[in-house]
Amino acid sequence: MTDSFEGLPLSRSTAVGSIRIHGIEAGVQLLDGGAMFGVVPKPLWERRIPADSRNRIPLALRCLLIEAPEALVLVDTGVGNKSDEKFRDIYGISNSGDPTRLEDGIRHAGFEPVDVDIVLNTHLHFDHAGGNTFLDEDGELHVSFPGARHVVQKGELDFARSRNERIRASYIPDNFEPVTHSGLWDLVEGAAEITKGVSVVPTPGHTPFHQSVMIESDGDVACYLADVCPTSAHLPLPWIMGYDLEPLVTLESKRGLWQRARAEDWLLIFEHDPRTPWGRLDPAETAPKLVAG
Ligand SMILES: [Zn+2]
Repeated sequence: MTDSFEGLPLSRSTAVGSIRIHGIEAGVQLLDGGAMFGVVPKPLWERRIPADSRNRIPLALRCLLIEAPEALVLVDTGVGNKSDEKFRDIYGISNSGDPTRLEDGIRHAGFEPVDVDIVLNTHLHFDHAGGNTFLDEDGELHVSFPGARHVVQKGELDFARSRNERIRASYIPDNFEPVTHSGLWDLVEGAAEITKGVSVVPTPGHTPFHQSVMIESDGDVACYLADVCPTSAHLPLPWIMGYDLEPLVTLESKRGLWQRARAEDWLLIFEHDPRTPWGRLDPAETAPKLVAG
């Protein structure tokens, strides 16, 4: 599966005001194209992202490393190394590295994993929190960033633990309970500043307590959207994933985000877009569309 990485650097960097940010390409997964685009018919979505013979589309696992003035912040952690071959085949996961491609990407950006001060999870699905923990060569489970404070919405952790039939395939306790046992959770409720220049904002719909991450410096603003808008193809308001638990809530989360993003010229960062790590809305277009180039 190494060809999935073709053209995908380990990390890419840009700046938000005086804050450097690095998109860490922590791997690739292949998810069902129909599930990724909900009610949008295939003839429309496959023009944006073509599907393979199993109807799967390639998706990045793009984490974000933020050089905030007072802390090094890692947003989301990819899939990790704990899943077995069957799971990795179903979801088409390729993220090999030391111990995963996430850590290789952090080094590529000029840091060591041990330098991370804060791990911020947008939500606890396996492709966002899987790298919170890892299996060592003896098969023992460890927290990946034992020196870091771990931030998630309190409601998201409670929800992940509810394990109902609709959601439990996405929430794997080994991704988040070792963080609990290590006493590393810093649970937040609602919008909150996490460290200078970095805050979280609720963007519910995909899950009831999903959050996005705001980076602000010197009047420049960026938003790491996570699953409220996983790729640039999901910018149009009704292009909402079938995975979303409350699609009409996602719709309103997106409407509010795009109004502010357009007015304040935000840099929008896409976690799963296979090609485009970030971009800005074109103010000349009424539909949400990225500025070309
Ligand atoms: Zn998700």
